[in-house]
Amino acid sequence: MTETNTQVIFSNRPEGALSESNFEIVQSAIPPAGDGVLRRTIYLSVDPYMRGRMSTVKSYAEPAKLGEPMVGQTVSEVLQSNNPRYRPGDFVVGNDGWQAYAVSEGKGLRKLDPAAAPITTALGVLGVPGLTAYVGLLDIGRPKEGETVVVSAAAGAVGSIAGQIAKIKGCRAVGTAGSDEKCAFVEQELGFDACINYKTDDLGAALKAACPRGIDVYFDNVGGAVLEAVLKRINVHARIPLIGLISQYNVNKPSSGPNLGSLLVNRALIQGMIIFDHFDRMPDFLRDMSQWLREGRVHYREDIIQGLENAPRALMGLFHGENIGKRLVQVAPDPTRKERR
Ligand code: NDP
Repeated sequence: MTETNTQVIFSNRPEGALSESNFEIVQSAIPPAGDGVLRRTIYLSVDPYMRGRMSTVKSYAEPAKLGEPMVGQTVSEVLQSNNPRYRPGDFVVGNDGWQAYAVSEGKGLRKLDPAAAPITTALGVLGVPGLTAYVGLLDIGRPKEGETVVVSAAAGAVGSIAGQIAKIKGCRAVGTAGSDEKCAFVEQELGFDACINYKTDDLGAALKAACPRGIDVYFDNVGGAVLEAVLKRINVHARIPLIGLISQYNVNKPSSGPNLGSLLVNRALIQGMIIFDHFDRMPDFLRDMSQWLREGRVHYREDIIQGLENAPRALMGLFHGENIGKRLVQVAPDPTRKERR
């Protein structure tokens, strides 16, 4: 055991891209086991979500605290334990953060069996990334045999698994990744049917070629330009598990186009709706809304622009937020509105 505990302290919040100056390396005393479990970190997982934790923007988790070791998942070896559930020599997965040693009562630790699988896998294919791929693809994407599934960051921890699950389910799997080398890996080693280098290929044309029957499921890890290109080629009733928006994590101002961050944070499902599909609901709607208006439970406004010649300006004004309530254009007098005569 070395004499000190090396810790990487989160020292200041980044503006835009991360830099080393956001962290400070310190040495401190190795904490005593006390009544708890002392362990030595063997592996630390670094993940895109960490960038979000470094920001104070409201999200699904509390921001990482300044002045403390940066947060992160770890695989560790137990050195000393006064908790009967753990013994020295046990391997555990936990959230010890960016530090060489950690101690706690043992809550939140999960024991690993190194004979069953390499302990590294607890942070990857058998850990959160694998689980994310599994749940995101199967429960939200709901792929059916013969469908086309596109996966971005296909060479990454989550994407690589998602695409392979798609293949297992009998789908055509198409990846996007940031280099030819990654694409070769995705196609040749992971068995995707195709992979697009989104940095050098014409995304629109490449997606069209790789997805001749359109896109049924888009497992989105990146947002931004790939999402925009994919949205142009999705099929009716496509499902989009919005898993990550990494292209946006380092930008202070989201790039143009829809900012879908709230969908992610709020675990919303992207699902398009076209009212033509729902006219069968009209009788129910009319019954309920009429009642709510009668009861004064629904209020409304109308913003009426006079004169057909003003229709273009009326329309343009919608894009400048001129209207309150439903903007209409009155083209001729309304005989029912006696007060206007
Ligand atoms: P990866 O292993 O995929 O690593 C990140 C990859 O993202 C990079 O390798 C890079 O690949 C790609 N990337 C980086 N910047 C950009 C950019 N500007 N535009 C497009 N791609 C970019 O990470 P993970 O598999 O751990 O995570 C993938 C995504 O899943 C992340 O967005 C992450 O936040 C999300 N995630 C979400 C979870 C959830 O619960 N919702 C859980 C776990 C992960 P390339 O070279 O191909 O560009």
